[in-house]
Amino acid sequence: MLETFLVNILFLVLPILLIVVFFDNKKKNDQLVILFFFAASMILCMVYPIKLELGFLFDLRYVPYIIVGLYGGYKGLFPLFLILNVYRIFLGGNGTFNSFATSTVIFILLPLMTKRFNGYNTKMRIITGVSAAVFIMIIYLLLLSSYFEVLNEEYWTLTFYAITTHGIVIAIDLIMIEKIIANIKNRENFLQAEQFHVISELSASVSHEIRNPLTVTKGFLQLLNVSKTVQDEDKVYLDYSLKELIRAENILNDYLAFAKPQSEHMVQSNFKKEFEYVKNVLLPLANLNNVEISYHFSNTLKKKFDQNQLKQCLINLLKNAIEAMKEDGGNLVIEVTDQGKNIVIRIQDTGIGMSKEEILQLGKPYYSNKKEGTGLGMMMVYGTIGKMKGRIDVQSKKGEGTTFTITIPT
Ligand code: ADP
Ligand code: MG
Repeated sequence: MLETFLVNILFLVLPILLIVVFFDNKKKNDQLVILFFFAASMILCMVYPIKLELGFLFDLRYVPYIIVGLYGGYKGLFPLFLILNVYRIFLGGNGTFNSFATSTVIFILLPLMTKRFNGYNTKMRIITGVSAAVFIMIIYLLLLSSYFEVLNEEYWTLTFYAITTHGIVIAIDLIMIEKIIANIKNRENFLQAEQFHVISELSASVSHEIRNPLTVTKGFLQLLNVSKTVQDEDKVYLDYSLKELIRAENILNDYLAFAKPQSEHMVQSNFKKEFEYVKNVLLPLANLNNVEISYHFSNTLKKKFDQNQLKQCLINLLKNAIEAMKEDGGNLVIEVTDQGKNIVIRIQDTGIGMSKEEILQLGKPYYSNKKEGTGLGMMMVYGTIGKMKGRIDVQSKKGEGTTFTITIPT
């Protein structure tokens, strides 16, 4: 029995292993491959069931089934549902109906959780997955109990083995999957930090060089603008030139804000002063756009950080949130709390939101969807939070709004 059990564990771990080794660059067509692996793992579990000494068989087919259902929703589970039942019908025997009923109920109900499940943190996802597996096993065993005349010791032994094995195996699988997801995220963050680092070094020097000629040119254009010898119709061109120059200056300022080593001003505090400052700075912009701010501060943890950078970073985030609600106003929630040893900042808006692809672009230099945008704000945000060893999680839905959750360790 131990051997088949170990073989089954191998079947369940194998797809994860293959995915890590060969397919972890998160491309679209990878999803099909991943699905194929889980389907194969499910079939293998059915082909080599675990034989209990008392003569009962049980298998772990529902482990991959549940995992795909939880992470992939209806779209992912449907192929597995088909494969499982076609194969089960092909096998025949008196458990067929039972298996069909169980897999159908799981297929209908489990994906209802997918959305909430994917929003959970790692620990909650593992707990939820294990609970789901144990719960499903209990239901399955209840159905099975109708085949027993009396619920004898054999039934209870089967129950014990089925529930513990499922619980343990799915926990192992989920822990591995979560670790992979965390690694992928870390790698992306690292790449982004690297990109940011190079750009900020180059930009600091270049911006300084460009700023002086810009200021001089702007000054002379302003003089020309009030000059009496220039025709009024020609002043239109001067106006345009000035506007464009100011735009260029804004871009430079955005650059310099995060690349100015001389403005470093390290402080040790709980963020309260910084948040109040930033909130006050942005209040007029919020009022102008009919945005209501609700602010909640209860953090007691202290952190050492560069005050100017943090202020700028918060301004960038809040400005984006307000700009996302430009069309018809909305609510901006700012929340700063402590959770364990982490400071947790939540910035939530009810604005235009972003698609999954747009979220992935966030923080890349020059990525902007705005007419007057520079696409540098978020890059600075990622850079600053990265320097503080923090993490940024973005949740967003087109048309509904966006939540930035920033976790900073102290
Ligand atoms: P900019 O604001 O100059 O466009 P950012 O780097 O600040 O540049 O933001 C990049 C893009 O990310 C924005 O153009 C916008 O499309 C998107 N974005 C950022 N924050 C939000 C938000 N809270 N809601 C919707 N979209 C956002
Ligand atoms: Mg911005």
